[in-house]
Amino acid sequence: MLAVALVAVLSVLWCVCSRWRDVLSGRPVGNFRGVRAPLLLIAHPDDECMFFAPTVLGLLQEQRPLSVLCCSTGNYYNQGETRKKEFIQSCAALGIPPSNVTVIDHRNLPDNPDIQWDKHLLSDLILTHINQKNVDLVITFDEKGVSGHSNHIALYHAVRSLQDSRQLPEGCSVMVLESVTIFRKYLSVLDLPISWLLHSDILFVSSGPQYRQAKEAMMCHQSQLLWFRHIYLLFSRYMAINSLHFLHDTKTEQHG
Ligand SMILES: [Zn+2]
Repeated sequence: MLAVALVAVLSVLWCVCSRWRDVLSGRPVGNFRGVRAPLLLIAHPDDECMFFAPTVLGLLQEQRPLSVLCCSTGNYYNQGETRKKEFIQSCAALGIPPSNVTVIDHRNLPDNPDIQWDKHLLSDLILTHINQKNVDLVITFDEKGVSGHSNHIALYHAVRSLQDSRQLPEGCSVMVLESVTIFRKYLSVLDLPISWLLHSDILFVSSGPQYRQAKEAMMCHQSQLLWFRHIYLLFSRYMAINSLHFLHDTKTEQHG
C-alpha cells in the first residue's frame, strides 16, 4: 500500500516537474504532434507579436515551418505601406522568413472595426491559401478576438464556417487563441497559475529570451508604438502566455 502511494506521489511530482521544465524552456504544454505546416491567420500587422508571440516562438522552437497570413495592411490611418514593411521586419525578428509571410490587400477587407468583413470573401481567400500552402493547422483568434476587434472576430467566423461546412482539407485542424477577462489580460506572467489550472489544449509560455525577442519584434512596429502600447507591452499576458483550444465542429459540440 505504501509502495503504491509512493509511486503515485512520485508520478505526480514527475508530471509537475516536466510541465515546469517545458514552461520554463518555452516549450508548449500540450500535444500538437504531427503538425507539419501551421498557419498563423491574423487581421492586422502587429497581431503576430501583440497577441501570438508565445505561439509563434513556441512553434518555431519545435522546428515547425510556420507561415503567416495577414488579411489587411492595417491601413486605418493610411499607413498601410509602412505597416506592411514593419510587419515583414517583425516577422523576421520572430524568426519567420519573408517567403512565409503573405499580406492580403483587398479593398473589401479594410482595417476598420466598424466594417464587417464579408465572411464568404474571407473564407474563399483563406481556403485558397490553405490549399496552396498545404496547411494542416490554422491558428487564429477565438469568437471574442482577444481585444474584441471586429476584424479579429471575422477571422474566427470565416474559419468556423470553413470547418462546419467541411471545406477544410482532410487532416487540417484549427486552433483558436483564448480571450481572457480584462483582469487576467493585464496580469502579465502572474496569470500563469490561472492559465495552468484552467483547461487548454496547448499552453505556450515564453522563456525569458523568447519574451525579449517578442518585445524586439514589437519594436519593429514603430508606427504603432504610442505610449499606451508601451504599457501594453509591460503588462499584457499575451506577450508571455498563449492558451489555445482546438475548434471542434458545431455538430460535435452539440452532441458532446
Ligand atoms: Zn489586430
